[in-house]
Amino acid sequence: MNDKESAADFIRTIIAEDLASGKHQAIVTRFPPEPNGYLHVGHAKAICLDFGVAAEFGGRCHLRFDDTNPAKEEQHYIDAIKEDVRWLGFDWGEHLYHASDYFEQLYDWACFLISAGLAYVEEQSAEAVRKNRGDLTSPGVNSPFRDRPIEESLDLFARMRAGEFEDGAKILRAKIDMASHNMVLRDPAIYRIQHRSHPRTGDAWCIYPMYDFAHGQSDAIEGITHSLCTMEFENHRPLYDWFTSHLPVPAVPRQYEFARLNLSYTMTSKRKLKQLVDEGVVSSWDDPRMPTLSGMRRRGFTPTSIRNFCATIGIKRTEGTVDYSLLESILRDDLNDVAPRRMAVLDPLKVVIGNWPAGHVEMVEAMNHPGKPELGTREIPFSGELWIEREDFREQAPGKYFRLKPGAEVRFRYGYYLTCTGFETDDKGEVTVVRCSYDPESKGGNTADERKVKGTIHWVSSAHAIASEVRLYDHLFREIVPGANGDFMDDLNPDSLTMVMAQLEPSMMDVAVGEVVQFERSGYFCMDRDSSADKPVFNRTVALRDSWAKLEKKLNQGPSEGA
Ligand code: ATP
Ligand code: MG
Repeated sequence: MNDKESAADFIRTIIAEDLASGKHQAIVTRFPPEPNGYLHVGHAKAICLDFGVAAEFGGRCHLRFDDTNPAKEEQHYIDAIKEDVRWLGFDWGEHLYHASDYFEQLYDWACFLISAGLAYVEEQSAEAVRKNRGDLTSPGVNSPFRDRPIEESLDLFARMRAGEFEDGAKILRAKIDMASHNMVLRDPAIYRIQHRSHPRTGDAWCIYPMYDFAHGQSDAIEGITHSLCTMEFENHRPLYDWFTSHLPVPAVPRQYEFARLNLSYTMTSKRKLKQLVDEGVVSSWDDPRMPTLSGMRRRGFTPTSIRNFCATIGIKRTEGTVDYSLLESILRDDLNDVAPRRMAVLDPLKVVIGNWPAGHVEMVEAMNHPGKPELGTREIPFSGELWIEREDFREQAPGKYFRLKPGAEVRFRYGYYLTCTGFETDDKGEVTVVRCSYDPESKGGNTADERKVKGTIHWVSSAHAIASEVRLYDHLFREIVPGANGDFMDDLNPDSLTMVMAQLEPSMMDVAVGEVVQFERSGYFCMDRDSSADKPVFNRTVALRDSWAKLEKKLNQGPSEGA
């Protein structure tokens, strides 16, 4: 399937105007993840925007790790993030950067602010700093250290860097306005002491810049023209602009905000996703129930489907929650196009054909994709004992049920017409075997008299079937907005994972790990890396829409209309 084109949005409009007016000759954007977890579907929206507009307008997009907090950042997150961005289909070329590349420059700029009387070393306790910040209705109180001599702050800041003080003993603050209506401008901290090794700079530093002091300046150093971020940074924009206007930066970037992606039944916060991993609620960051890009990849999502989803939801400034079913429907559209068809029985019930010649096996030809004859055919063994889905047989069923029931004739896809002659049950009344006869003249689904057989079901020859573990997934959370009414952990769906032992047609041995196939009439399934030579494992990527379930609901509700 091809990529869907992104509609013009306010950001694309601004960029087009900036290029037309000559304000910029070329545009430069960046995607700035903090390497403290794995990327999730929300990040995909930002990535598609940052890299997407750069490509559309002939500019470039940088990948910049916002690695200013060594307490939470780890190298394996950096590696995973790079892999995920590439998998999603984007390339930063040679433009890979880290905020830590700029630590020396940022330190110099901090000294520049102190020298200009625009920053000071704060020695009050964290508690006092918090208290003196005031709140939304009352202004803050100036720190007793606010007007200390410049020389004193310069000396203390150098000694902070030299490692003379404990974590938290001092901070460097910008001197802006303790009465500002924007709390972010009330003398924000710009450096903190943290005696910790950094994944890239090792033990070179024991003071680290705050996000706000690093971000805009990193944008300026890299010549970013449009710095795109989510709405929660809107009230940080005045601070972003304050730094770039008070420092001798080489260029002045602009920040633009857009609404983050919220997806129903889904959690998009790295911190909370990490909690799910740390507490063993899921098996790993790439558990197929996780909304991480690695989890989605393992589940069987295609990069095209995620990009098309992002193009479909578009870019706005107002927040909302996107329905998960939209993502699923775009995924189905893509997989419908590309996934080969196979037969698999998830809830096996045995069918025995009474008039089938004993021991006989016949190969039948099946299309790999009914819409794409160029994908060819394969041969499947048909025999006197088959597996069918338990739900494809009913002892008693309404007229509109076109599957197997006593006396009814049904087409076994690519095989023969079978008529149900009886069934057996165990002592609990559970059906154990369905008995049928077959019409030898109906091979491939055609008969000389062309009689109408409405139902078609799938099957697998039991002597040739491959037993497989199949993992069926449901939403990880029961609530549309997990955590809306308290702790998100209370909203976990206990039935998010169900395992079944399925029976697959033999050609399924050739599926590769990561490959997605359609199990006919059931859904799309991706071979998992837990597969072994004697036991394949499949993840259900997404179910097909179940037309019978819908029809049955309708029948139960009242006057039937058929389907
Ligand atoms: P999280 O809360 O999940 O940790 P974050 O914003 O702290 O997210 P970053 O790694 O700092 O994560 O984010 C990198 C970029 O991705 C930022 O520009 C951020 O605005 C964007 N982003 C993060 N979450 C979303 C989301 N749900 N929708 C759109 N963009 C997002
Ligand atoms: Mg962040």
